[in-house]
Parts: sequence; C-alpha cells; structure tokens
Amino acid sequence: MNKYKNSLAFARELDAKDPLAHFRAQFYIPQVNGKDVVYFTGNSLGLQPKTTKDYINQELEDWKYFGVEGHFYGKNPWVGYHHFVEKQTAEIVGAKIEEVVVMNSLTVNLNLLMVTFYSPTKTRYKIIMEADAFPSDHYAMQQQARFHGFDPEDAIVQLYPREGEHTLRTEDIIAEIKFHADDLALVMIGGVNYYTGQFFDLENIVDAGHSIGAIVGFDLAHAAGNVILKLHDWNVDFATWCSYKYLNSSPGGISGVFIHEKYSNSPELPRFAGWWGSDEKDRFLMDKKFIPQKGAAGWQMSNAPILTMSAHWASLEIFMEAGMENLRVKSIELTNYLEFLINDSNELGLEIITPSNVGERGCQLSLLTKENGKELFKKLQAAGVIADWREPNVIRIAPVPMYNTFEDCFRFVEILNS
Ligand SMILES: *Cc1c(COP(=O)(O)O)cnc(C)c1O
Repeated sequence: MNKYKNSLAFARELDAKDPLAHFRAQFYIPQVNGKDVVYFTGNSLGLQPKTTKDYINQELEDWKYFGVEGHFYGKNPWVGYHHFVEKQTAEIVGAKIEEVVVMNSLTVNLNLLMVTFYSPTKTRYKIIMEADAFPSDHYAMQQQARFHGFDPEDAIVQLYPREGEHTLRTEDIIAEIKFHADDLALVMIGGVNYYTGQFFDLENIVDAGHSIGAIVGFDLAHAAGNVILKLHDWNVDFATWCSYKYLNSSPGGISGVFIHEKYSNSPELPRFAGWWGSDEKDRFLMDKKFIPQKGAAGWQMSNAPILTMSAHWASLEIFMEAGMENLRVKSIELTNYLEFLINDSNELGLEIITPSNVGERGCQLSLLTKENGKELFKKLQAAGVIADWREPNVIRIAPVPMYNTFEDCFRFVEILNS
C-alpha cells in the first residue's frame, strides 16, 4: 500500500501539514498568465528571495555615503565581507569555518584548485570523472591534463554506466579507482550528477581514492543546498560549488570552496595568490612577501565582489532559518510524491532514470522521454511549467523544498498527462 494518493486534495493536505510551507512566501514566484508557474528549475537558477534587494541596497547605500571608507565604516565593512557568510556556508556543506570561503565562480575555482590538488607525475597523472559530467568540468579537466603535457584521451578516465543502465554503481566506481591504483592522481566527480540526479556515495569514494594515494575532490554544484553533506567528516580533500542553483544567490552568483583542514596550515602548498589571500592583519602594509592566511581563505586572490556576495548572504540566512536537515526531510517527501504521481499515471511511458533509492538522489528527477520528448516539453512550457530540457531526450525536474509545494507536483503531472 502506498501512503500517497493521486489527488489534488491529498496534495493540499500534504502542503497544509508542511512545517516549511511558509518559506515559499519569502520568494518571488514567476508568473505565466497571471498564475504562479510550476517552477522546477531551482537546480538551474534558484528563485529570488524577497530580501535580496535589501541586502544589495544596504551595500549600495554604504557605497553612496562612504565611498571607499565603506571598507571600514559601512554597516557591514567590506574589508572582511567573506566572514559574514562563512558560518552559514560551513553549515551547509558540513565543514569547519576555516575550511570554507566564497570567491570567484565555479569553473574558475575548479581550475584554480587544480594548482594545488593536481600535481601529476610521469606515472601518476590520471583523472577519473563521470562520462556524463557537466561539460564545463570536462573542458576544465581536459585542459588541465593538456597544460601538464598529457593527452586528455589518455589522462581522463571516464566512468560509464553498465550496458542498459543509466547511473553508476558505487562498486564499479570503486573498482575503477582501484584498477588505476598506480596511475591515478585525482578523483573529480560531481557530488550529485547534473544529468541523472544521482547522488554518489561520496564517503566511500573518498576512502577508495585515498587508499590508492589519489586526491579526491567534488564539484558540488548540484549538491550544495540540496543534500546533506559532511565534507569534513568524509575527509574530502577539496570541493567547489556555485550558489545560483539550489542556493538562490543570483545569476552567475559567487562560488564556494572547501579545502580540508589538513591543508589549512600549509603555506608551502603550490597555489596562485593575490592580496586577499594574504594575512589579513598585514594586508594593507603592502608588503611584497606573501604569507597566506590559514585555511581556505588563503586561496582568495581578489577583494570580494560585495554586491553578489550580499545576494548570497540574503539567501544563506533563509537556509539557516529553515535548516538543512528540515529541508532535506521535506525534499525527500516532495520528490517521493512526485515520483509516485509520475509512476501512478504514466500513460506516456516515461522512464525515471534517477535512482529510486532516496539515499542516492537529491530532489531532482530526470525523465527519459520517448520520441515525442521535445513536444511534451513544449506542452509543459505552454501550460506554465518551467522545467529543463537536455538533449537528446531528458526532462529534468527539481521540486525544491524551499519554495515548491506538493500541489506543484500534482499540477505538473496533471499537465504532463493532459
Ligand atoms: C552549473 C554547473 C557548472 C557551471 O559552471 P559556472 O562556472 O558556474 O558557469 C559547472 N559544473 C557543474 C557540475 C554544474 O552543475
């Protein structure tokens, strides 16, 4: 017996019982024909919190009144602005405060972290990643290999699902890592795969990587703010993510970086540098000797882009209020309900390629369509659903617990079958 029912009344009952339901009102929901859309693309660009404008305005006001003095005398002095978001960031990814910093953008950070974490030798130079990793990650890793004089065809090991399967089995990932025990330098995997929505067993992947002497890093673009992460406890070497997907921090918003504590006091590690990574108390002495700050902050280069960071701050405060654990509890229900509805009335024969095991997915479901996929997607669009189309035949939908409702799930499936 399933605990769910395929009815609008039941969906509304779940919404009425949802302790996080009031957070929806803190966001602007796009409208089509005067009605709230079913917004299922928080995995691509999160919606705008109503407080974002106030956070940005505060900094505009301080700039207006103080000019450069805003660095020290503004309400939130810009000189140490990254500190205003470090505690929340650490909480979201399961890190110590010293292990995180927000800076730059995601692919920039991915490349930057390679300076420290990809030091290939003639014999140990390979990088393992998912075959269907996000293209930006493929480009970055290919060029990193090339930059060090390797042929990407040889240096990049791609993980493919088994014949007839869509997602990767942990045992296969681990076997591949062990197979490359002598030549693997780096494991670089998306924590949650952007295409299939699969949430990998990060802890065991870290252990496997370390057991053969490789560094293990994750791209958490689709994991941060979506699933529970324990980067410190899992002993992840490094990670980076963007803030504009689940973290609702404005288009192209600032990226986050995690560097494990074990590297926090190692000024000798290779890294690129700039004045913002240097010791804070000596920064304005304009000395020529670079002494990095302890922790992830020592990887900063430029002074912080205050306006985008203020947008990030606005959203992080809402996450703190809601709590990641609570969000995850709702997220599991929301996605389970959506999955139930799709399977319950699946006249179109759609296949959900995202794992059905809740421990192996975040909120996203990826639907494999038959030959009429593109038309189906257009029908959804016309009826006020914002979803995401991926060539050749996948529709990605992400009911996010922060602002989506059980009624959204019901409406989506109703339109799908209409
Ligand atoms: C969204 C996403 C990106 C985008 O990178 P930007 O540098 O922020 O443009 C890269 N990698 C993954 C896995 C993503 O999901």
